[in-house]
Amino acid sequence: MVQRFPCFGFPLTCDAHTTDACVEVFRQQGLAAARVGSLDARGVVRLRDGDVVVTTLDAAGVTRLRRSSETQGWIASCRRFGSCVPTRVPHDGVVHPASRAAAVTGLVLLLAGGVIAAVCVPWDAAVAPWAELDIPSALTSFTEQQRAEIAAYADAAWLPGLLSILASPVLALLVLASSRARRALSRIGPRDRPVVRDFLAAAVLLLLTRLAALPFDLWLAVVRRGNGLLIEPWATWLLRWSGATLLVALLGTLAVTIALALLRRSPRGGWIAVVAGAGIVVALVSLAVPYANLVEGTRSDPRVRDRVLAIADAAGVEVGDVVIVDVADRSPVLNATVSGWGPTRTVTLYDTLLSTATPEQVDAIVAHELVHVRDNDVVLGTVLAMLGATAVVAFAVALALSPGVRRRLGVQGRADTPLVALLVGVVLAGSLVAVPVSSTISRAIEARADRDALVIAGDPVAYADLIALLAVTNRSTLEPPQWRYALVFTHPTPLQRIAATSAPTS
Ligand SMILES: [Zn+2]
Repeated sequence: MVQRFPCFGFPLTCDAHTTDACVEVFRQQGLAAARVGSLDARGVVRLRDGDVVVTTLDAAGVTRLRRSSETQGWIASCRRFGSCVPTRVPHDGVVHPASRAAAVTGLVLLLAGGVIAAVCVPWDAAVAPWAELDIPSALTSFTEQQRAEIAAYADAAWLPGLLSILASPVLALLVLASSRARRALSRIGPRDRPVVRDFLAAAVLLLLTRLAALPFDLWLAVVRRGNGLLIEPWATWLLRWSGATLLVALLGTLAVTIALALLRRSPRGGWIAVVAGAGIVVALVSLAVPYANLVEGTRSDPRVRDRVLAIADAAGVEVGDVVIVDVADRSPVLNATVSGWGPTRTVTLYDTLLSTATPEQVDAIVAHELVHVRDNDVVLGTVLAMLGATAVVAFAVALALSPGVRRRLGVQGRADTPLVALLVGVVLAGSLVAVPVSSTISRAIEARADRDALVIAGDPVAYADLIALLAVTNRSTLEPPQWRYALVFTHPTPLQRIAATSAPTS
């Protein structure tokens, strides 16, 4: 009879009559799990510290030791008891200490995000349930034809939009679940260059996940073009899509390659750098968002800037930069945003808005954006995104360090390529789960911006007209099914927003 016990984080078996003593000796050796990359069926142990050290196990113990004092003690004990042989057994519940620490850290980060969201998100401003708002009156802001056009677009666009969101995570999870796909990924790149292998495997996988979304992105673009929301040439659209794909794939590939290199170099503490790095990346991306406007072309208009600053002064809000982004040759969609934080904080107005909306309506949207500035909504969003992203990465790393998961994925020593599929799959799945969570938080923040903008702008009629103009021009769904509203709506519906302008404030 044999009994399984954890040894170097791998299940070995011991003869029953030596089990207790054998386990005790391994405990005394500290179960140097973090130092061992893999143990194959022939008993070859590959260490992870520096150069690979290969030694062999057999029924008589470990022989042909070359280095590592820690292993020497273990080997001596194997010799002494002469009964430890490696076997292929299913996951036995062995937990790598770093894996457990990463998982606990992920839970703590998630909890911290939950507490901050509970305290800092203006839940009290979230619009009252539909029944309490005068939705029928709000509907009169739209003609029958406008309502029909908006509904037709919603009917045509929701499915490709949803599939576009789902495609990348689903493909990544399918690759992760398929041993054949993982093996195919493992064959990419030179065997003896783990960094190059990880880089190439991550690049291929990330490009594939983006390509999986292409048919649905294209489908949605066709619908948008049919509804007059996309007017740029197809070549420009494809160029834009390709640029975004290359940027995402390149940044993701670098992140995955660096993360795996850190885990390989320091299996005990490397995960901390990986998790912290994810937080830093999110903060830097948020900081850099305003620069994305440069792709379209930006300009600053002194008159618009003075107008924004005048409203800001009156409201006691300090704005950063005010820029106009040129999108009219791409799409007639109207929008204004606040992005960046600290030195890059920017209020952005679409040129389409300035050419379409009345001055009163522009004032209304500026007031809305100024509430976002005043209440540091970008900072709050960035902090929550950092906590969410670091939590997901911590969970991904916990899985990557788990001996049981590594065995199931067929991870062998320095050939960590299946871990590429694991990291990409978990992170994309995490970002999918984040969609309804961030939408829910966003709706409350947007409802507050609407509520307080009415105070700053002081013109509820212009505000309601603005929301109606945005809805008609952007084809914003007026009455979405509740599930779609809960999952993906980042703002209250146009009808809720219009009804809220005349709702009694408490
Ligand atoms: Zn807003």
